[in-house]
Amino acid sequence: MKRPDREAPDEEFDELSWRSGMVVVALASVAAAGLRLGSSLDGIPFIYAAVVYLTARQRWPAALVTTLAAALFVWSDPLAAELVGSGGQSIEFREPLLKTAFLLGFAGLGHIVQRKSLRDTEEQRRADFEEYRASLLQRAREYRLLNSARPDSGTDGVRSDLSVIDAVEAVRQGIYERLYLLKRTLNCHTCVVLWGSGEGGDLEIRELASDSDNLVEGAIERARGVVGSIVRCREPVRLSDMRQGSRGVTYYREAEPIDQFLGVPILEEGSLLGVLCIDRIGGEPFSDEEVELVEQMADSVLRTLQSERLFRSAEETRFELSRFFAASRRLNSVLTMEEALSAALESASEVAEFDVGAVTLCDDAADEHEIVRLEAPDSPDFEEWEGVRFEDNRGLVSMAVKNEHYLPYQGRVREAGTVVFDESHRLDGFESLVVFPLITRDRAIGTLVVASRQADVFGTRRRDMLGVIASQAAVTLQNARLYARMQALASTDELTGLPNRRQFEQKLDDALVRHRRTERPFGLLMVDIDHFKEVNDTYGHDVGDRVLEQVAATLRASVRGADMPARWGGEEFIVLLEEADLDDILTVAERVRRNVAALAFPVDDGTLQCTVSLGAAVWPEDGDDDDILIRRADEALYHSKESGRDRVTAWNQIDS
Ligand code: GH3
Ligand code: MG
Ligand code: MG
Repeated sequence: MKRPDREAPDEEFDELSWRSGMVVVALASVAAAGLRLGSSLDGIPFIYAAVVYLTARQRWPAALVTTLAAALFVWSDPLAAELVGSGGQSIEFREPLLKTAFLLGFAGLGHIVQRKSLRDTEEQRRADFEEYRASLLQRAREYRLLNSARPDSGTDGVRSDLSVIDAVEAVRQGIYERLYLLKRTLNCHTCVVLWGSGEGGDLEIRELASDSDNLVEGAIERARGVVGSIVRCREPVRLSDMRQGSRGVTYYREAEPIDQFLGVPILEEGSLLGVLCIDRIGGEPFSDEEVELVEQMADSVLRTLQSERLFRSAEETRFELSRFFAASRRLNSVLTMEEALSAALESASEVAEFDVGAVTLCDDAADEHEIVRLEAPDSPDFEEWEGVRFEDNRGLVSMAVKNEHYLPYQGRVREAGTVVFDESHRLDGFESLVVFPLITRDRAIGTLVVASRQADVFGTRRRDMLGVIASQAAVTLQNARLYARMQALASTDELTGLPNRRQFEQKLDDALVRHRRTERPFGLLMVDIDHFKEVNDTYGHDVGDRVLEQVAATLRASVRGADMPARWGGEEFIVLLEEADLDDILTVAERVRRNVAALAFPVDDGTLQCTVSLGAAVWPEDGDDDDILIRRADEALYHSKESGRDRVTAWNQIDS
């Protein structure tokens, strides 16, 4: 590891001593010349300067020798003593004792200056070192993230030197990436997995994503603080608006200024293995939906760590192991549903050859299953089954889901015509077949189906490995759903359910690209509730929130399906009106205005009504890019407010 360049004390020392030597020689020569030759130059200040310089550089012997030599010189030479006093100086240094005292005074001064400069340098070095350490830590974090985001990409996806350690590390990176995502989407300060080192023993941090560096490095007592409550009651614990300076969150060394906390237990058949905790500074308390999400995340962490345990105990040949690890590594590093489905079948094909592979998912609401992915490279006819839905029945897929156990026994097809999906989607002519349930926390969410025309392809070992792949695929698919939900959460306004500003801006970008291609106009409407502060002040924040919800619902109901209303912030909304010219936009705006004015909210002293002001801008007439267009709609809205509220203004109607 390269240290910073400034750390080169030896060269620095050499250069200094060489320089000080030259300076002393020069000063001493001038001093000697001044004293000896009787010039009008007073030599003493030069000697003082030499001594100060030498003491400042901590050249103690040289300083001492110079001082003594000068003192001797001055004492012993009456001519010099005579000369020193001459030259019209205001201070007379005739007394050798006084001169020596003066010399020593300078030396002391030099020493003080030197001490101070040494201390400054030391502080600077310490600050530099801290900065360097922080940058190393940051780089280490980024490196992990990068690696976990980019799975191993050997030519055939299998690295020959892949070892158990690699696979275990991949698992950890998978967890880290999930924590990182969780942190980013739920706007957390810290997301941390605490893991138990044995039954009843202390916990310690297993993986974390955090903005803080105040985290405990060693053991965390199982029974203390809020973690202790989770361990005892085995239920999620949610704290909001926490007291500052509280030491109850025991994964921090010192009290951290967090406001919201949520911890969920990680349980395996009733016994607690760890705790997943998240917290944030400021912001809203964690919602029920967020709690559910974190519970699912805890489940996914558990399953991932279970497979890590399996890796450690697996006793397969190195080759099989490496393929197996590569497969699960791939499963650990995908995010979207699409990637998860591909990874599930690819991973299965790493450990066993099959002619047909499929993934089905349950649709509990409809009591149906769907073949969401089917691969049969040598029998393209089967691939048409992708997307087929079939009722819950007595086929192998339905039964594997119900029994939460693989079927058929020993992976052998016993009778021709066994129903795998349903009566019209059988797999005839296959000798070997296994349907694995994809089991997550509390149920099977679907199946992984593999079939081969050859007999005895899925022996015990292959089935075991496929079982692990199926288990991981279940986690991966569940994670992909979680990820989709997190994405939705991160782009939706919680109160109104409308897209938030971030999502709107993305959609507006897309709309611009589309409309630039078709050259058809589209519009923006900016909507702001009138005197909303008064509503809050008079009836309270809850009524204010209800008004916001209703106005949002009215907006949604007043525009077409293709249009996009969004919450722009506070009590302001924005609507993207696809394929609309100014007339269309004004019609919609007027409809919105009327519909909102018609709303009535029951309050203590009667009914509350409210109005909105609107501003409209149209592309491309009013502006070619998104920023200008939004600004124009905002200016039009301002104009509506200025001219009395409860009205619509189009930007190009403003007289400027
Ligand atoms: P104007 O007619 O000029 O728009 O006046 P106004 O009172 O509506 O505008 P102002 O910007 O002064 O006040 C907006 C208020 O909206 C202030 C803020 O407390 C309130 N607000 C912002 N977000 C929310 C929210 O999520 N819930 C509630 N209840 N109030 C909110
Ligand atoms: Mg307002
Ligand atoms: Mg406003």
